[in-house]
Amino acid sequence: MQLEVKTVLNRIQHFVGFVYQDVRLCSSRGQLRIEARIEPHGGIRARCSECRRPAPGYDQLPERSWLFVPLWGVVTWFLYAPRRVECPEHGVVVEHIPWSEGKRPVTKAMMCFLARWARRLSWRETARAFHTSWECVYRSVEWFVQWGLAHRKLQGVEAIGVDEIHWGKSKRADNFLTVIYQIDRHCRRLLWVGKRRTQATLRRGLKALGSEVVHGLRFVCSDMWRPYLGVIAAQANQALHVLDRFHITSQLNQALDQVRRAESGQLRAAGRVQAERLKHMRWKLLRRGSRVRGKAKRELGRLLNTKLVTARAWALKDLFEHFWTYKSLRCAGDFLEFWTWRALRSRIAPMQKVARTLRSHRELLMNWFRAKGEISAAAVEGLNNKIRVVTRRSYGFRTYEAMEIALYHALGKLPEPGEFTHRFC
Ligand SMILES: [Zn+2]
Repeated sequence: MQLEVKTVLNRIQHFVGFVYQDVRLCSSRGQLRIEARIEPHGGIRARCSECRRPAPGYDQLPERSWLFVPLWGVVTWFLYAPRRVECPEHGVVVEHIPWSEGKRPVTKAMMCFLARWARRLSWRETARAFHTSWECVYRSVEWFVQWGLAHRKLQGVEAIGVDEIHWGKSKRADNFLTVIYQIDRHCRRLLWVGKRRTQATLRRGLKALGSEVVHGLRFVCSDMWRPYLGVIAAQANQALHVLDRFHITSQLNQALDQVRRAESGQLRAAGRVQAERLKHMRWKLLRRGSRVRGKAKRELGRLLNTKLVTARAWALKDLFEHFWTYKSLRCAGDFLEFWTWRALRSRIAPMQKVARTLRSHRELLMNWFRAKGEISAAAVEGLNNKIRVVTRRSYGFRTYEAMEIALYHALGKLPEPGEFTHRFC
């Protein structure tokens, strides 16, 4: 059998009611392009684009072109002159064109193609690789994501994590995001993202998920950011609200780092050699003690044998790790009492501050044990790290909206429009 491009197109992109008339290889200014001209099928009536029902023809519009997936690396266009129909219900409207989406000059197949590649490459690289513009890639991903959001299923969401993420350079309110994750064992994904970290933001997010989802929640996991605590208590009070391990640990680490920096500064001012050593101990101190090994462990051991304040602060931080290992609620409560008592007596201001915060959130902290291991400590942390990869990688997001689309695209586990197209990648 002689293989023609038309045969290939008919096999991978066949549209009922339309035929490929001819396929040409053209060359303009040294650039090759493939043009596939499409005609209506003589025996099949055009359909109304509103109701998809067949309707009598009205007239024909001038020829339009749509960018298709490049064939053999050659830019490929579909050419077609759309008809208008006179629908009994909707009047004179443009016919339904199965490869087209509104006024976009790109076929659905190409939008799927670009959107899938845009998960593996940056948007700029995707545009460059397939000879198109950044804007075209952005619009394709946007369409892909909106389709996914409209078709995703939210049944069975039982555990969510709410968190705040900083992005960009400045610390303005607009540079924070509120994110809502699903953190169930069977499905971890980004459910919602919104600008700022206020009560209004979270209320907007919960509203977007719908009251059915919010009332079906069994666990809500968050940090101690006050606006969130209030909204969660008001809207999802049937759910067990847990303060998660990841955030408590990072609070302790922040306090410890504050102590280290202050002390290192004082030592330097006094001209002591220890200052330099302390400066390089940062990650060894911030890691979980049991995870520091080898040479780093010996260095840490040496530091902890000194009389430095940092050593005492480290010991307090490390001691708190025990908290998470308890099985009994009462023992965990006793331990929390013991730890805060020690921290408050330590005369290390940042540690005292953490102790006071933990004491005032005691009930929410204890919910960690009431959840009986149903909440994974690493879920929120893992998703946060993935978000950072997206916000930091230079996708060249020009606007907040573009970044939001990119986050849903990378982390939303959204269903994909698949009915229109052969999978090109
Ligand atoms: Zn109609």
